[in-house]
Amino acid sequence: MAIDVNEALLARVVELRRTIHRNPELGFEEHETAALIEGELDSLGIEHRRVAGTGVVARIEGGSAGHVVALRADLDALPISERSGVPFASERDNKMHACGHDAHAAMLLGVAQVLASKKERLAGTVVLLFQPAEEGPGGALPMIEEGVLDAPAVEAIAMVHVDTRIDVGTIGISPGAANASADEFYVTIRGTGGHGGYPHMSVDAIPAAAATVLALQNVVARELDPLASAVVTIGTVSGGYRNNVIADQVQLSGTLRALDSAVRDELEARVRRIVAGIASTYGVTSEVRVVRGYPPVHNDVSLARRFARYASEHAGLKVIEPPPTMGAEDFAYFAQRVPGLLIRLGVRSESSGAIHPGHSPLFRIDERALPIGIVTLALFATAVGAGHVGL
Ligand code: MN
Repeated sequence: MAIDVNEALLARVVELRRTIHRNPELGFEEHETAALIEGELDSLGIEHRRVAGTGVVARIEGGSAGHVVALRADLDALPISERSGVPFASERDNKMHACGHDAHAAMLLGVAQVLASKKERLAGTVVLLFQPAEEGPGGALPMIEEGVLDAPAVEAIAMVHVDTRIDVGTIGISPGAANASADEFYVTIRGTGGHGGYPHMSVDAIPAAAATVLALQNVVARELDPLASAVVTIGTVSGGYRNNVIADQVQLSGTLRALDSAVRDELEARVRRIVAGIASTYGVTSEVRVVRGYPPVHNDVSLARRFARYASEHAGLKVIEPPPTMGAEDFAYFAQRVPGLLIRLGVRSESSGAIHPGHSPLFRIDERALPIGIVTLALFATAVGAGHVGL
């Protein structure tokens, strides 16, 4: 089935994108965004329901039998003050769509319109997932817990994410690892305080903390396979009272990232071992708390290869295979349950000023990418639904 994005449809998607961009809402506060989506789905005659507070799930039944395919867009903005200079910039203080979720939501509404207009010729069922709180604390898991992948049982899922590292006109599909896990860790090192002039009468937490920070660099540098990808970043160090007082306590916090679940477990175990070992060397006590965040995003390998080939052969899409990134995405939870694809949508161009990375206050996208994103998602739904791209 040919996917055509006509001018009227594109104009509507641009308008929706800019409306959402002007009115950004943070995670689980996407009330206006969800209402806008519901209104648009109503006008297209597509049935929908609320999930996870500010999430919306919609369903389009095709005219013939086929697979059940889900498409996901995220809705939330970031606590950033926009300085992009676009005429439809955020009208809200310290809230900005600096990660392109405005475009994701608008494109999925464009897909809804394309598919609804071809409903009779569509094979299978398409489930549209408008997800809150991707930037945290995470809307994917609550949606899954509310059954969005069940009844009908979703067999494959895809999403697109705008990417200012990739030129507009190109999409990126990588088999296997796409994004990293992101776990928080907190270390408390405790000694006993005292007078700065009499170090022998106390147990100083500061040198122990310094040694811990340095020793943790060893995990990635010396302990993991150099071909595995991992990050141990210590983001904060705090402790102490004043220049002549020995600190009784230091707190460290950081992020642990890995592209693979086994490496993720390994990282945590090694961080715990090193912190405990340094503590015993320095005669302090230590405590490590790890708060697990999103798992790694793993693109289904055969689905990625098959869809990339299909997209370039049947829709003339320019497809590249970009390397994974150490960013995180809660799409990981969907892709753990059903074969999934995180597809990167090139939005970079010098002419539109779309050169700044996501989460920058200067972030912009080249809107010429919007029809490409719509075609990509609609093609995934129709081709997988009809069995042209095997699962
Ligand atoms: Mn994002």
